[in-house]
Amino acid sequence: MHTFLLPYQYNFIRNQVELLQHQFAAVHDPDVRNAVRYSAAEKIFDLLPMLTVEQEELLTQIRNAETEQHLLDYLTQITPFILPFPEISESRIRQLFKKTKKLHVPPLHSFEWAHTTFLSWNDTGNRKKYFVYPLDGEWIGVEGTYMPSIQKGICAVCHTYSDITLITATTRRSTEQHQTIGHHMCIDSDACNQAVTNPDVIETFLTRIQKK
Ligand SMILES: [Zn+2]
Repeated sequence: MHTFLLPYQYNFIRNQVELLQHQFAAVHDPDVRNAVRYSAAEKIFDLLPMLTVEQEELLTQIRNAETEQHLLDYLTQITPFILPFPEISESRIRQLFKKTKKLHVPPLHSFEWAHTTFLSWNDTGNRKKYFVYPLDGEWIGVEGTYMPSIQKGICAVCHTYSDITLITATTRRSTEQHQTIGHHMCIDSDACNQAVTNPDVIETFLTRIQKK
């Protein structure tokens, strides 16, 4: 079986597993435990409606989990099937930011590709946040600016309570139509990638900036 789980889908499943762990710890009635297992499986299949028989067999095993250890084993079993962020070279990244002088690209081996939905890093000296994203098979690069004031709050991208700041970027449309768009997002994009369970917000943000 090939890799098929996108990193954000894995995050979604991991959240379901964590929820089940809490429920297992609190609930001992076998019928209720059964119901919560089935509910978790249903949510996973709602997220992944197009599965092969093998993929479905793998994921459906969450219904058989009886203990917390089984749940951990389940996560271990599905991890090899994560489809990592597509490979990209540093020179390709530099091409995406041709207009940026002195672009600092972190060493690419420092990223966890199996846990990357959008590639992003900060340039703390200039308060810039860079984004690289495969949009419909084409690479896009977006340069954003962040506010120095970091606060606690809900990130627009991963919806977790974390250290966030306002990140803005300006659209690339013709000069008179430039528009600045912003979201409060995790300052730490690696943490955001570990938490994101739906790529819609980041994808819409990057698409709107990119549109010419
Ligand atoms: Zn986030």
